[in-house]
Amino acid sequence: MCGIVAYVGDKQAYPILIKGLHRLEYRGYDSSGVAILNGKLNLYKRKGKVNQLEDFVENKDINGTIGIAHTRWATHGQPNDENAHPHFSQNQDLAIIHNGIIENYVSLKEELISRGHKFLSETDTEVLIHLIEDIQDNEKLDLAESVRVALNQVVGAYAIAVISKDESNKLIVAKNGSPMVIGIGDNDFYVASDATPIVEYTRKVIYMEDGEMAILEKGKDIILKSVKNIIHTPYFQELTMSLDALEKGGYEHFMLKEIFEQPISIRETMRGRLRLGQGIVNLGGITEYKNKLMNAKRILMIACGTSWHAGLVGEYLFEELTRIPVEVEYASEFRYRNPIITEDDVVIAISQSGETADTLAAIKMAKEKGATILGICNVVGSSIPRETHAGSYTHAGPEIGVASTKAFTSQVTLLTMMALMIAHEKGSITNSRHQQLLNALDAIPNQIEEVLKTNDFVKEVALLYKDSKNALYLGRGYNFPVALEGALKLKEISYIHAEGYPAAEMKHGPIALIDEQMPVIVIAPKKGHYDKLVSNIQEVKARKGKVIAIVTKGDTEVRNMADHVIEIPEVEELLVPLVATIPLQLFSYYIAVMRDCNVDQPRNLAKSVTVE
Ligand code: GLU
Repeated sequence: MCGIVAYVGDKQAYPILIKGLHRLEYRGYDSSGVAILNGKLNLYKRKGKVNQLEDFVENKDINGTIGIAHTRWATHGQPNDENAHPHFSQNQDLAIIHNGIIENYVSLKEELISRGHKFLSETDTEVLIHLIEDIQDNEKLDLAESVRVALNQVVGAYAIAVISKDESNKLIVAKNGSPMVIGIGDNDFYVASDATPIVEYTRKVIYMEDGEMAILEKGKDIILKSVKNIIHTPYFQELTMSLDALEKGGYEHFMLKEIFEQPISIRETMRGRLRLGQGIVNLGGITEYKNKLMNAKRILMIACGTSWHAGLVGEYLFEELTRIPVEVEYASEFRYRNPIITEDDVVIAISQSGETADTLAAIKMAKEKGATILGICNVVGSSIPRETHAGSYTHAGPEIGVASTKAFTSQVTLLTMMALMIAHEKGSITNSRHQQLLNALDAIPNQIEEVLKTNDFVKEVALLYKDSKNALYLGRGYNFPVALEGALKLKEISYIHAEGYPAAEMKHGPIALIDEQMPVIVIAPKKGHYDKLVSNIQEVKARKGKVIAIVTKGDTEVRNMADHVIEIPEVEELLVPLVATIPLQLFSYYIAVMRDCNVDQPRNLAKSVTVE
């Protein structure tokens, strides 16, 4: 995690760096800091959010046209002022920002301490900048070469930017395992963990590859090379993201904006791909691998967090429509348990950011064992899409709120389209059923608009339950993953303990939690296991639990039993997750707001999990 921004050129660096940090704050917000060169190397850092850094920096010397800045998600050492980045070298001539983990930092640190180095923080990062300076002093190398030699001694993941008092026009950056984008301006360079801090200055970018470093010097061309010292030819790309998509657009929080954007984001996911007139789904990105997918002996969905829930919905979809067996795996478990992978397996890796470290490592492993790897990611040009054989972007637009909303529904939409495409090719569903489902999927954005009209009512219900200590979410079939996702949303932004369960499993444990205060949220649409769910609701009511039910419009049976009902339109059973998720997102959002929680940046979390 962590957000990195750096600048070298002829503009004042500070405003560019601070704005960039705000854009990257979703990646971590334990502390932030800047270092700017103007003859002196001024370094300011503070525990807490970027705003706190801005207050701290007021009336200080922030003049300079070259600088580095960082917003941290702590891995080594507490979130305090000392551990905040940037870090100085021993004699304070160099400064570094770093995203990632230097795994062999302990042995490097011991060695440096034995040679007289003194450390001010507990971070792995500070060790790296001391090492760079040590090499520079002992081997009389310039900055870039010292960085390169140091990186050859380092094990782990990093994206770094380094500046030096002695080479005051130069910014050295390098990447291995953590993302890094370089923006090429007219007479300047912009560097960041993703393209959002860069887009308003230039659209010409380079996405760095693992094992690469770059020397960025004012007024000169970029020098790109491997850390093994082989010169690379830069591959320039054009950014297409819009600036508006990065702003809140009148909403109080990004999360609310993103919830309300779902009719649009889902349309974007389907645009040009769901072709009703021709009666087909065309996912251009995976056309070449269609046969591989159709003939797969097994599909493995690999993901973390909310994307793992999308994968679970995918399991139901693919097994029902294509009759191909599916397994859904947590990337972090999969990669460390010596799994059985064959060349007939197709792995679908799902990740909003495309940077999730465990997912990335898991697909590298599966690829080595011969499996075909497809990706479902949102961030264009990110690491996972570059590691896969092929894939499809969700095109949901930038998701800034740390709790995923629109990315989830776009992932589910894409999985639905993929399953329909394969089922149609394979003939595992009839043409008329295929067309019927295409029409039904096409209608979903309008139906979500309907569901969003429940906003005020959901807010009223949220007010009644905002002080709950626990919550239980129940669903069956396609709505079991929806229950998991509802519970995750509540716990991550409101800090209320919540559990998602298959409704029938409730009897095997969680039923013991139910009392008069406990809200039990049941996803109980007419389609699929309705009668069984009605019985489960009775079981909750018999124990005086409070039931909030998500029901199909016009339902009377559950209405008579539940304490509150939230209506969703009648949709195909396999599409219910796309609409039933919406009120659960709103419910968590309002509860978190009423509890005064930081909705867009919940404690301890970060959006893009680029560490294991
Ligand atoms: N390991 C560094 C630290 O703890 C960077 C953390 C990260 O990138 O998440 O400060």
